[in-house]
Amino acid sequence: LVISIEGGEGSGKSTIIEKIAEYFMKRKLDFIITREPGGVRISEEIRKITLDQKYNEMDARTEALLFTAARRQHLIEKVLPALDLGKIVIFDRFVDSSLVYQGYVRGIGIDEVFQMNQFAIEGFLPDLTLYLDVEPKIGLDRISQNPDREINKLDLEGLQFHEKVRKGYLHLLDLYPERIVKIDANEDLENVLLSVIKEIELRC
Ligand code: C5P
Repeated sequence: LVISIEGGEGSGKSTIIEKIAEYFMKRKLDFIITREPGGVRISEEIRKITLDQKYNEMDARTEALLFTAARRQHLIEKVLPALDLGKIVIFDRFVDSSLVYQGYVRGIGIDEVFQMNQFAIEGFLPDLTLYLDVEPKIGLDRISQNPDREINKLDLEGLQFHEKVRKGYLHLLDLYPERIVKIDANEDLENVLLSVIKEIELRC
């Protein structure tokens, strides 16, 4: 089983993922949690470059290529071996982030970014993608109240940017209605978690 968790800034992804881990531990299921961009050494290095404000001049396609390269290495080095061992894999972001951030928001086009990603993922897609949908205002408030958050260049973008991210995800829901499930993440954590676990239980 492969699950990816998606959402905009301040959607509560990290907290929900910790809770999913507790849930799998309780059920004594073997799993890994891994994040994108990152997950393995090379991809974590690429993460640093792509998220550093210092490289503000980065072209959208360059950024898309870097994220895709990071994804490839992560998949080959960590994800596929874990699946071979029979583990459940939980992704903190996967290809849908590229489709939204580079394809939709930065304007390359969802189809083009998907085609490019095919070179890296060779047809690999999650069984289930949970999109944590949050009002951008609420998301931004949450970020500003979280002192532990590792600030990245997108945190500096305005409300309009985050609204576009949300629109991008909602658009993807139409494209992949069977794989992607929208979770209302404006609610408090307990309720969000209940909806998330319900969706997972339908699949394992
Ligand atoms: O907090 P998180 O680990 O999800 O942060 C990763 C950052 O990278 C986010 O700001 C996200 O919007 C950005 N990102 C991106 N394009 C991707 C994947 C992530 O801009 N394809």
